[in-house]
Amino acid sequence: METITIRASSLPELFDCPARWEAKHIRGLRLPKSGAAQLGTAVHAGTALYDQSRLDGSSLTADEAAGAVADAIHRPEEDVDWGEDSQSEAERIGIALHTLYCRDIAPKQQYVAVEATCEALHITDIGLTLTGTTDRITVDAVGDLGIADIKTGKSAVSADGTVSTGRHAAQIAVYELLAGAAIGRPITAPAEIIGLQVAKTDKGRRAGIGVITDACEMLVGDEENPGLLQMAADLLHAGRFYGNPSSQLCNPKFCPAYPACRWRK
Ligand code: SF4
Repeated sequence: METITIRASSLPELFDCPARWEAKHIRGLRLPKSGAAQLGTAVHAGTALYDQSRLDGSSLTADEAAGAVADAIHRPEEDVDWGEDSQSEAERIGIALHTLYCRDIAPKQQYVAVEATCEALHITDIGLTLTGTTDRITVDAVGDLGIADIKTGKSAVSADGTVSTGRHAAQIAVYELLAGAAIGRPITAPAEIIGLQVAKTDKGRRAGIGVITDACEMLVGDEENPGLLQMAADLLHAGRFYGNPSSQLCNPKFCPAYPACRWRK
């Protein structure tokens, strides 16, 4: 069977609108990244530098690691359409979120790996190769490994501190598989979503942790109900990339196929 390689981070898009996934990942159509997405990238860069320095023993301060946030905002590696957002405002919010993470989240965490990359996990029976990077691998009090995924956004953490987790479970399940392959040990502890609420004011910004247990059950199927990866493999091998005009991202700002898409009327 032919093997198809897919980045784990693109799986939600494959299920949301297969036609958009095909346009971006097979035909290579691109739009500039949004300012909000680059803000997320910047916060990932700063917090990763901070956590990695703690693993290495060099223990940068939050302020020292914040340079990576500013770099990602002002010297992005991809085209970014900042729209009505200003870069200086994005830098201010990004550094505030980074600082919140370093102060309120990092001290509670025990990490064994930061940005753990799995170059290729071959699942030969369904003809799929997965690649991807897991934000963090955690270790609990009894030595079990888990993963933590950082999500920034305007609805990442509700006012009562709850982190929305449900819609991330499928992706978390795949990251658990990849993290296990990257570190060479199974991932058995519950997964964590570290939510960082994007807001212009200190009061509006929040950080919290939500937990997902048994996400890996989504990967396992039976004869009547294929698991998540089987469904992805079926879609990819059949090449039936239908469109979903009800997708929240069916918008010229987010979909490069929008101008010529036959699925929307
Ligand atoms: S325009 Fe809408 S339906 Fe068409 S590919 Fe893009 S998101 Fe999907």
